Parts: sequence; C-alpha cells; structure tokens
Amino acid sequence: MSVALSDPTAVTPTPTKPRPALLTFLGGVGTVTGSRFLVESDHTRVLLDCGLFQGLADLRRRNWRPLPRVAADVHAVVVTHAHLDHCGYLPRLVRHGFRGPILMTDYTARLAEIVLRDSARLQMEAAQHANEHGWSKHRPAKPLYDIRDVERTLELFDPMPVDSEVEIEAGTTLTLRNAGHILGSAWAHLTLEDGHTLVTSGDLGRPGHPLLRPAAPFSGADVLLVESTYGSRRHDDVAGRAGFAGVITRTLARGGTVVIPAFALDRTEVVLHELAELRRAGTLPPSVPVFVDSPMALAALDVYRSAVASQAAELRPEMSARGAADLSPEPFLAARTVQESIAINEREGPAVIVSSAGMATGGRVLHHLNRLLPDPRNAVVIVGFAAAGTRARDLVDGVRALKMFGEYVPVRAEVANVPHFSAHADAAQIIDWLREAPAPHTTYLVHGEPDAADALRDRIDRELGWTAVVPRSGEAVLVR
Ligand SMILES: [Zn+2]
Repeated sequence: MSVALSDPTAVTPTPTKPRPALLTFLGGVGTVTGSRFLVESDHTRVLLDCGLFQGLADLRRRNWRPLPRVAADVHAVVVTHAHLDHCGYLPRLVRHGFRGPILMTDYTARLAEIVLRDSARLQMEAAQHANEHGWSKHRPAKPLYDIRDVERTLELFDPMPVDSEVEIEAGTTLTLRNAGHILGSAWAHLTLEDGHTLVTSGDLGRPGHPLLRPAAPFSGADVLLVESTYGSRRHDDVAGRAGFAGVITRTLARGGTVVIPAFALDRTEVVLHELAELRRAGTLPPSVPVFVDSPMALAALDVYRSAVASQAAELRPEMSARGAADLSPEPFLAARTVQESIAINEREGPAVIVSSAGMATGGRVLHHLNRLLPDPRNAVVIVGFAAAGTRARDLVDGVRALKMFGEYVPVRAEVANVPHFSAHADAAQIIDWLREAPAPHTTYLVHGEPDAADALRDRIDRELGWTAVVPRSGEAVLVR
C-alpha cells in the first residue's frame, strides 16, 4: 500500500488495538458485474454486495467457482441495491451454507425479491432447455440456484432504515446512505473493530435522475471503494431528452411504432416518466397507447408507484406531489400474460412499446423487434448501456440484419441511441460526489471496465490529489 497523506480527521487507533481488517476484492473488478468485497476483522466477516457475474462466457463461468472461505463463516452480507450484479449471487451463497442477516434498505428488499425470483426462473429454464436440447456438457445440467434457494434467501433479508447506524457484530457498525441510483439504492459506511472506516459506493446515480433524490455526499472514510462504470464518459441530459423526443415525433409522423428495450428496474420508470412529460407537452398524442410488456418491469413499477403513494424520502419531492400519474402515461396498457403480449402484435396503428430485456439479449422485446425491424416506418430506441456482444450493441453499431430465433431479420427501422438515460453518474459527477470529503488513505476504483477505471483513477489523482488504485481481482489489502 502507498503511504497515507497526512489526514487530521483520521481515527487514532486505541492502545490495545485489534489487528487491522483485511479487504479482499472477490468480484466487480475489471468488470461492471459480480460485485463482491469481503471485509475481515478479528471477530467479524462482512461481505459487501453479493453480485452475479454477467455478460461474456468467461465471466459467467466465475459464478460456478466456490467463493473462498466465505459462505458458512461470513457473519453478514450488505447489499447496496437490487440490481442482479449486486445481489444475484445471494441464493448461491445461501445454498452453500450462509445463514446470517442480509442488510439492505426496505425498498432494496422489495425489489431484490422480484429480481431474485426472476433470476431463479431464468436459471431453471436455462437448465431445463439445456437438458432437453443436450447443449450443456453437464449431464444433467443444473441451475446455479432454484426457487427454494431464493425462498431461504428471502428469510434472511434484514431491512434497515437509511441514515441510522446498526451494529453488525460487537464493534462493527453499518450506516446506509442514499445513493440515488435506483429506488432503495445506498452507499455503505462501515466502522470496524479497530475504529477504521470503509465506504463502498455501490452504484451512484446521476444527480439529474428525474425521480430520485441525488446521492448523499461522501463524508470521508479511511478506505473508499468507488464505482467507475462511466469513469471515462460524460452525459448530456439536455441532448439526450431532445433526441428521445425527436425520434418519437418522427416515427409517429410516418405512422410507425416505437419499441424501447428497457431494463426492468428503474429504466422502465424513467422512460415512462419521460413519456408522461411528452404526453403533457403534446408530443405524444393520447391516440397513441403506451404498452409495458414485461411482468418483471410491471412488478417493479408497482413498487415505485407505492413509493410515490407513500411519499418515500428517496423520491424527489415534486414526484410525490404529482403522484403516480407520472409513471403511467395514459392510455397506459400493461401486458402481464403471454396472451396480452401477443395481442400487442396483432393491433394496428402507431404505439410505443416498452419491453425487456434492456440489451435485447432475450425476453419479450425480441418478438416486437422481429415484427417491427423490417418496416422503415418504425423505430427502436436504445436507452441504456449496450454491452459488446448484445443485440442492442449490434443495432447501435448499424447492422443491416439481426439474428433472432435462429434466422436473420432485416433492419430497416430507424435505430436511435439515447444512452443519456443511464442510471449511473458520469466521471465529473463522481468527482463532485467526492470533492467535499477529506482524502481517504486509499481509494479503490471498482465496478468498471479497465479503461473506465483507469481514467477515473487518473482523474481522482489529478483533480483531488488522492491516492487512487485500480485493484486486481482477488487482491487483498489492509484497511488502515
Ligand atoms: Zn446498479
């Protein structure tokens, strides 16, 4: 470790000092998935986030590796938010013997239940498909976890209030602070047995998130883990919103339908909020219905609506004042069943369809793309991060034919890329989040592709003068 800068606010160790804690980067390093950070002190082991690796096959294989010295002897897990790359490994951990509390905010608990149930269903369907078609080298193919593992995991959920300190074990305390990324998202502040402190940012929201209050500013810690998803990028909200309105106007003018592949958690709500604004502005006439075609997105939408109804503190005050109408641009049509989804395909006339999966890797949105892509009157709007190797990325890159259901479909519809709707802060916004705090001993850049993590490390070094490091996967460091 590098030598600490002199820091007048650092906590002085007690005379009978316990040994310093050890922090191990078990995931979420060099990638935006699989966030898992283990903190071990003399008497307490805490796992910060317990995410699934996603994306490229090499990463996904890491979900099958046993987690070293963790499952049975970790005392507690802290989950920053309900995205699968932060909570999706929990049922596997429980299957391997974890029985401690899973600490999170109340809304994270509600959304994580939806996410984990859906994840178990996908795991079970994939295993069944592999067995029926013989494509797995494992015979029989087994799911990473099943719905029983999820039920056992839900029993361990231990929601806690935001901004109040709870004791995990003697001498180790946790405070969750609002992160403004998705509903319920938090950054976590740990005080360890020896008095040293550690903060993990989880994912940080954009200060301009239309529904959620901005993140509570970082207030300092000895060790900081900060996400770097967009560590090398800048968002332009005004251009993004104008681009979104423009493609909707053009498409409706030529009698086409707009399909928006959207992540079920938060992206659907942000898109619906924007559509409600366009409805009010007259850009989206009442004759054009808005469909949400995704059971998981609709379940999450119910949680967001209940947050609005109960005037949750996480929401911007103007959201509570305007009510849930902001999330349901009338006429708003929900497709929960397969029959309702098919019925969308059979109707005539322009419409806006919001459907998952966000990167068009699967899900009901494929049926809509299959039908709508060959007609140049229609449009596809990509509203989030489109990872390499996904259909969304292929569309953004301008492919002329897209493979779906074993055959190629011509791409004649307009394709618009509006990544400004991202749920993550950009580089300058992360620097702003850090700026007022005293320098940590060391800042670790996590949750980013290597280029993004390196870019943010350099910027923190240059603009704040802090000791910033991109850790290696599996690396262990002292917390001091
Ligand atoms: Zn996230």
